[in-house]
Amino acid sequence: MKLKDKVALITGGARGIGKAVALAYAREGAKLAICARTDSEIDATVREIQGLKGECRGWVCDVSLEESVKNLGQQIQKAYGRIDILVNNAGIMTRPAPLTELEVKKWDYTIAVNLRGPFLVTKEVLPLMVRQNSGSIINVSSGLGRSGYANFGAYSVSKWGVEGFTQTLAAEVRSHNIRVNSVDPGYVATKMTRYQGKEPESVPEVFVFLASDESRGITGRMLSSSKWTSEIKRN
Ligand code: NAP
Repeated sequence: MKLKDKVALITGGARGIGKAVALAYAREGAKLAICARTDSEIDATVREIQGLKGECRGWVCDVSLEESVKNLGQQIQKAYGRIDILVNNAGIMTRPAPLTELEVKKWDYTIAVNLRGPFLVTKEVLPLMVRQNSGSIINVSSGLGRSGYANFGAYSVSKWGVEGFTQTLAAEVRSHNIRVNSVDPGYVATKMTRYQGKEPESVPEVFVFLASDESRGITGRMLSSSKWTSEIKRN
């Protein structure tokens, strides 16, 4: 088991890619903390993981809201006392529109969840990791965070921001033995894509690698779920 007894927080871990990563981590022996806004989905995923004899607890949290994230941090500290792995996965995409026609509130909402969210959650978790002098943070990016694409402006900008956040944070926390990397999962069949694309179960391998000691020394990297082994070898 590659993650035996490590505690992993996965935001948006109740469905889609986050859920697939949570299940994979549970199979590798990790203790899970998941959060999302939909109670029923959290309960169902917690039960599924517990059914595999895994340890999992879930909390309702909106990652874009400071108080909600603070409360989440306190609950996890109380439950587990540590966090070894953080997957900043929660994300949204609004209906495609050219930038000039995009409603300001949709721009703000996208940036709030996809970029402010990882910032708030990381700020909450980092003091624990610094105290532990170890940790792995994995930020879920996108192909649209690595090239521009018409009509996905706010989403694309938020994910470019996630890449900048990853690089900056990696440089800032390296001396605390905390690694920070980003992953483009590819096109995955989830609610976000109206269930078009590859199966979510095809994605977690790179997440397990980055969370485990196998990726010791790897930080500040932008990996893709389908090409990560060659990307690791290349550098
Ligand atoms: P999904 O099925 O819609 O899952 C998103 C998860 O995030 C849900 O659990 C959702 O739960 C949660 N979430 C959304 N807003 C939240 C908030 N404000 N606070 C807390 N949790 C929130 O989508 P997915 O495809 O698995 O997406 C996961 C990540 O992968 C996202 O960051 C997305 O941008 C990225 N991604 C996906 C694809 C793809 O092809 N699917 C491609 C590239 C990148 P609630 O709605 O209940 O809060």
